[in-house]
Amino acid sequence: MTVLPTVDLVRPARCSCCDAAGRPVNGPLVMRGHGLRERLVCGPLEPGGAPQQVTVQARRYRCSACGAIVVVVPRGLLRRRRYAAAAIGWVLARIGLDGVSTPVARAEVCPSATLGVAAAERWLAPSRWIEASRRGQLFPRLGRHGAESSRAQIAERTAMQLVGLSPQGSTREPAPHLAFRGAALAA
Ligand SMILES: [Zn+2]
Repeated sequence: MTVLPTVDLVRPARCSCCDAAGRPVNGPLVMRGHGLRERLVCGPLEPGGAPQQVTVQARRYRCSACGAIVVVVPRGLLRRRRYAAAAIGWVLARIGLDGVSTPVARAEVCPSATLGVAAAERWLAPSRWIEASRRGQLFPRLGRHGAESSRAQIAERTAMQLVGLSPQGSTREPAPHLAFRGAALAA
């Protein structure tokens, strides 16, 4: 389903830890391929589609200058998030713009949400995403929000920013569809 990029294609230009050049013009490679790490990622593959859980592979590199391990995740994913960026954009738009409840939004992106036990638990992921967005740490391209902003306001504003990042020409689509596409590009 996901084509794995070659080790050369996604090699980091610099070590994020010590800033050494990954592939110096003269001299041996610094950022060397260090295997793969599998990640499970949740979310629909298209806006409004059935939620899926897919396995993706992140490439690992080891910096021979400082020893750091740097993980490069495939496009459309955010670091340390179980849900695809597009699914996060979708949920923020559904909660922040459409005003749906958290369980409804969850059922749209989480493949196990229809199971009774999982559905009964409180779903904390959207609160974590919103707090990360407040600090400017959810989508790398988006700014931070003021401490006085409510969570509902942050969900709404983040969703609108993602709508603004969606490709032109699809503006007749509902906002969550646009936020889904914008979020995939913003990751
Ligand atoms: Zn390094």
